[in-house]
Amino acid sequence: MKINIIGGGPAGLYFALLMKRQQAAHEVTVWERNAPDDTFGWGVVFSDKTLAYLRDADEPTYQAITRAFATWDNVDVVHRGEKITIRGNKFSGIARIKLLNILQARCAELGVDLRFRVNVAAPERLAAECDLLVGADGVNSEVRARYSAHFQPELSVRHNRYIWYGTRQLFHGLTLTFHETQAGVFAAHSYKFDETTSTFIVECDEATWTRAGFEAQTDEETRRYLAAVFSADLHGHALLSNNSKWINFLLVKNRRWSYNNIVLLGDALHTAHFSIGSGTKLALEDSIALARCFAHEQTVLAALAEFERGRKPVIEEYQHAAYESLLWFEHARDFVHLAPLQFAYSLMTRSKKIDYENLKRRDPEFIKAYEAAISGARLALPPTDANPS
Ligand SMILES: Cc1cc2nc3c(=O)[nH]c(=O)nc-3n(C[C@H](O)[C@H](O)[C@H](O)COP(=O)(O)OP(=O)(O)OC[C@H]3O[C@@H](n4cnc5c(N)ncnc54)[C@H](O)[C@@H]3O)c2cc1C
Repeated sequence: MKINIIGGGPAGLYFALLMKRQQAAHEVTVWERNAPDDTFGWGVVFSDKTLAYLRDADEPTYQAITRAFATWDNVDVVHRGEKITIRGNKFSGIARIKLLNILQARCAELGVDLRFRVNVAAPERLAAECDLLVGADGVNSEVRARYSAHFQPELSVRHNRYIWYGTRQLFHGLTLTFHETQAGVFAAHSYKFDETTSTFIVECDEATWTRAGFEAQTDEETRRYLAAVFSADLHGHALLSNNSKWINFLLVKNRRWSYNNIVLLGDALHTAHFSIGSGTKLALEDSIALARCFAHEQTVLAALAEFERGRKPVIEEYQHAAYESLLWFEHARDFVHLAPLQFAYSLMTRSKKIDYENLKRRDPEFIKAYEAAISGARLALPPTDANPS
């Protein structure tokens, strides 16, 4: 089979190597507009479950990834300067560039043809000369746009603004920090992903963004402003830019996932808000699911139909949880009146995937403290008909 893949991100590279591993005779080419060492952003995260899938799909990639990553099991919620730790949430972080380099090396080892610094402007030409064209070209996919009449994408630009930085301050565990300022509420999502660096994503609503005056600020002024907002958390460390820009999250769904011999994969196909840390995980798991369909089905069309049939419900479930989480962050200002423990509980249960029972299993101490806090709050209320003493 001749396979062309547009996009050498996690989805494109992993699918390429899995197909080549399945059948050495496949001719697999990845077309990537960047150089191998170009990247945006900092670190990405995986859950334990994803790592188990990676191990089953390709042991050498799994071994290389697990040698390079940082792991933790705590979520820390910082509100009103108080840190609440919730255990039992196992995650691993890795630098995005490190992950890409591991996947590139494994592709090269297996004989995938990697073509860097090629911006594909006419996907139809590549589609015509192969058995399968994969649009793994990210959130602003050209392939999706070119065939939008067939894929029927639903794109929604969300309300909050966010910006992706790094910092040398090491946050051990996923740390969600909130500060209420005169301009409004700022949230930071941060986690250490190697020995020296943490990802630090800042998010705020549009009104806060406008009041803070970011529109007129340079990159350096913005970083200084945000470093001052989070000074108690950064302990004097600067925010590091990597061509960082304020953006609005783009929620992507597609009614149809393939058209003739063309299929979308990863962020081109669907996005899930970064607050549930699933973008890279879903991209890699898409690749595993699609490669499996080619192992079982006889024709390209049958494999693509099977991919959509089996994978779509899984993606819809993640997108639903991610959407609930996104809404919580869009309305963070409505929750900041809560005391730290109640605030942390609300945050942990925001996606509705984790509930009281689940949290109790993960971290009984946290639930004990939370229950003590709410019964304490009840006792402190003046007696009324609705709240008898
Ligand atoms: C702020 C933020 C934080 C995030 N945090 C996390 C996190 O903590 N954990 C996590 O798992 N995920 C995270 N993600 C998401 C993650 O980065 C993506 O979901 C993931 O990289 C998707 O992989 P992909 O291969 O589908 O797309 P991408 O990684 O976007 O790769 C697409 C590739 O296609 C190339 N390309 C595009 N168009 C063309 C063209 N015409 N010709 C040639 N090449 C082209 C691009 O250069 C790029 O290399 C985050 C994203 C953002 C924005």
